Order: sequence, then C-alpha cells, then structure tokens
Amino acid sequence: MKAMVYDGPGRRSWRSVPDPAIEHATDAIVRVEAVTICGTDLHILKGDVPEVAPGRVLGHEAVGTVIKVGTAVQTLSVGDRVLVSCISACGACRYCRQGHYGQCLGGGGWILGHLIDGTQAEYVRVPFADNSTHKVPTDVSDEQMILLADILPTSYEVGVLAGAVSPGDVVAIVGAGPIGLAAILTAKLYSPSHIVAIDVADARLDAARKLGADVVVNSRTEDARAVIDKLTAGLGADVAMEAVGLPDTFEESVRLVRPNGHVANIGVHGAPATLHLEQIWIKNLTITTGLVDTHSTPRLIGLVANHQLDTAAMITHRFEMAEFDQAYEVFTDAARSGALKVLVSAAT
Ligand SMILES: [Zn+2]
Ligand SMILES: [Zn+2]
Repeated sequence: MKAMVYDGPGRRSWRSVPDPAIEHATDAIVRVEAVTICGTDLHILKGDVPEVAPGRVLGHEAVGTVIKVGTAVQTLSVGDRVLVSCISACGACRYCRQGHYGQCLGGGGWILGHLIDGTQAEYVRVPFADNSTHKVPTDVSDEQMILLADILPTSYEVGVLAGAVSPGDVVAIVGAGPIGLAAILTAKLYSPSHIVAIDVADARLDAARKLGADVVVNSRTEDARAVIDKLTAGLGADVAMEAVGLPDTFEESVRLVRPNGHVANIGVHGAPATLHLEQIWIKNLTITTGLVDTHSTPRLIGLVANHQLDTAAMITHRFEMAEFDQAYEVFTDAARSGALKVLVSAAT
C-alpha cells in the first residue's frame, strides 16, 4: 500500500510500505477513506516529538471501512464504516475504567502515527478496535465525521468542558487556528453571551466570525483585555481558552480572565510559560490543561447526526491520496493558503 512516512526531521514521503496485518486478537484493519493532517503532524516533522521513529506512518485521524477483524473483536464486523479516534483505549486499565482514555496504561492513548503506524495510508491497523473506533451513522458524511477524530473532542473536552463554559458567559479564545475554531463551535452549544476570538491573522479572524465568534480582536493592533473589559464592566472573561501553545498566549489567557474564572489550556507547549502567582494567587482562578480523552466522541457524533454541529465548515481544501504531498504543502503554508483543515480522500 501507499502511506505518508516520516523519514526523520524535515523529511516525509508518500511511498509504498507493507500492508498492515492483524497482530493482536483485538486489532482491526481499516481501509482509510478519509484522513486529515493535524498540527501535531507538523510538530513531528519539525522533530519536536522525538519518540516518533523514522519510518513511522503518520496520521491519527481517519474515517474508513473495516476489512478485517481479530478473533477477539466483539462489536465490529467487516464492512462497518468507522471513525478511527486519535486515542486508542485498552478499556481495562485504571484510567480507561474512569474514561480517561488519553492516559491509558494498557498500551493505548495517543499511539497512532506516534508509537505505531498511523492513518495517513491506504490501510491502518487499529489496536483495541472495539474501544478505539466509533461507528459512523449512515447519513453522516466523511467530511462531517473526520474532525471528530481529534480536534472537536479536544476543543470540547479540554477547552469547553474543562473551562466550564456556562450560559451567559463571556468566553475568550486565544488563537483562531483549527483548535480555536473548533472551540468556538463547541462553546456555542452552551449559549455564551459573547465569544471573543483573538488572533494575529485577519484571515483566521474572518473564519472565526463565520463559525460563530461574536467579537474578533487582532491582538497586533488591539488590546484584547480592553475589549473584554467593555463587555464585562471591567471584570474580565468568565473563561479564557489558550489554543496556540506559546508562552505569550498562555500568559495572555491568564490576564484575560476574571476572578473566579477558568483558564483552559488546549495548546501543545514546547517551552515553559510564566505563571504570575504574585498577581493571581488572590483571584481564585481554575487553570486546567490536558490531552483529550475522547470520552465525548459519542455525544459529538450525535450532535453532528442531528445537525446541531456543522464540522464540515472547517474543511477548506480537498485532495485525493495521490496528492498527499500537495495536501501537506497547503496545510503547512496555512498563512498563505488560508487552509484550516484539509481532507484527503481515497480515490473512488
Ligand atoms: Zn491531532
Ligand atoms: Zn487503558
């Protein structure tokens, strides 16, 4: 089969590799029909995730059809259309029993395209298949479904739920990339009074407005805190979400929130940030961070199937697998291409 292979920092290639086979009785093999590229894949390509070995097939998000199941797989059959989640789950360890699949101790967690071969391929081996896939409702498209593999549950769980977004809240979202935009979509489910999207790129702020932000702030030219002060009589935001992963934007998120407010860090950080405890110790803040568990995926699938959540609006570019290199180029150069999420489909 063909697959997108990580060849060490700065190098990848779409090339032939052996087809995956069942290795454990709980595995399934899925023919990949739709797949996307995540910001995390770009981090891997920069060499930021050293546990990814050269030769690894990239990708941790897919929709496809089950073509083979191991003897211990109980709920999937050949022909089932499934979402392959970014998080695999053994289902039996302490964390899995608590729904914290992202921290799985039994060989799951984020392993696809990380510790084992991933989904940017014609076929993928999915471990613990019963617990690591979700059946796709018949009338939901690949485009609607694919974003439920990672960024929708990530934004919803680590941003909206951990941030405790409540009706009437003023919600500040720092960063209007794919994760920030997904946070806008899922925060809206809770009827906040205002969603304020903050970014330095006008194109991303336009996208934020289209997806439901009430106020947009270009922080190069405007002071986000002043804008939020106007909306909150000087108190600050009820919830601030960090959706970038830089020290500055984390520190900004802490500055934007009111006493008793929540700071929900969604961003993936590669450097330390300063927590100004000398200023905030008195403010009764709740600060949360996390890796997605994907316990919310069934709920999100239901919302998409019932037309209460339109995830496909975030897909800006479409490619066939033979054009995978081009898909990477467009996604990597998002500032110029305007790419939010790219969909790569198997040839029909
Ligand atoms: Zn991802
Ligand atoms: Zn587990």
